[in-house]
Amino acid sequence: MTQSLKGRSVVVTGGSKGIGKGIARVFALSGAKVAIIARHPDQAEAAAAEIGHGAFGVVGDVTSLASIESALAAAAARNGSIDVLCANAGIFPQARLEDMTSQQWDEVVDTNLKGTFHAVKAAVPYLKTSDQGRIVLTSSITGPITGFPGWSHYGATKAGQLGFMRTACIELAKYGITVNAVMPGNILTEGLVGLGEDYQKTMAASIPLKRLGTVEDIGYAALYFASREAGYVTGQTIIVDGGQILPESLEALA
Ligand code: NAP
Repeated sequence: MTQSLKGRSVVVTGGSKGIGKGIARVFALSGAKVAIIARHPDQAEAAAAEIGHGAFGVVGDVTSLASIESALAAAAARNGSIDVLCANAGIFPQARLEDMTSQQWDEVVDTNLKGTFHAVKAAVPYLKTSDQGRIVLTSSITGPITGFPGWSHYGATKAGQLGFMRTACIELAKYGITVNAVMPGNILTEGLVGLGEDYQKTMAASIPLKRLGTVEDIGYAALYFASREAGYVTGQTIIVDGGQILPESLEALA
């Protein structure tokens, strides 16, 4: 594993649960100083205590630019600065198009897409001062590649993150900051467990590797993008899905 995150200051939005907690754990085990940002301070602190290695929780809400700015200021004050932003916070409530309200649409867009913009904008002043400035987005296969009933708003935000990334990486290249995205398939998180056992079983059956992903599977991909070794990689994506997007039909899985 890369040694280049040792002593680096890393912020993970949505790091109190699921994929974000997995990312935070992988970075902490790689020697990084990790700040976990989430809306519920108790859960952020509990996750940090569980991870150890000096990780700490900071309260912040990505839907508010002022909130995320003050959260990053607190993280930078404690860790010196910020070298890596993992913009991971996201929600995935389901609503079919015909029933979806404008408010439900806004809630998902405000968190997943506008929240990504807020976190990146707030992090840039710190990342500019780093010699290893990195932004790693958590997108998804849902939206950029696949569809799923109930997630038209969600899919739009996850595809939107990639459109955002492709211009952000050009604008930030002059500071040596890279911007890349991990595209997870179905990862076993608290949020996904909430979708029920049937969902998990059906999903696992549709995946060539026959299992849902682990949060660490995503953490290792994020770690690569954040490493010194990935310094010449920007505006790129990596799909971590056990081969889920590949089968042409159920026949291909027989
Ligand atoms: P999760 O288990 O539900 O965790 C979501 C995290 O985001 C929590 O830490 C939550 O903490 C935080 N969060 C939610 N809204 C926030 C806000 N407004 N401001 C700050 N933090 C906020 O979700 P997950 O499954 O790990 O998903 C994490 C990311 O991975 C999302 O971007 C999701 O789209 C993506 N993803 C997940 C899967 C999957 O299979 N699970 C697949 C593809 C992509 P608080 O509630 O305390 O704020």
